[in-house]
Amino acid sequence: MCPQRILCSKCGELLYTGLELETPGEIIQRNGGYCPKCGKKLGFDTENLKIIPETPVPGP
Ligand SMILES: [Zn+2]
Repeated sequence: MCPQRILCSKCGELLYTGLELETPGEIIQRNGGYCPKCGKKLGFDTENLKIIPETPVPGP
């Protein structure tokens, strides 16, 4: 499983990174419903978050 990253769609703050697949709802709850950096209210739909699968770095 690839690590995933979830970023604030407004400021790009990294809200979650890790191997475990978490729902946006869990991540939003952990941050109290707001982006800790820019204060954007995080919605429970993914349009407010960017979920980016971390692509493995190709070897030499
Ligand atoms: Zn933000």
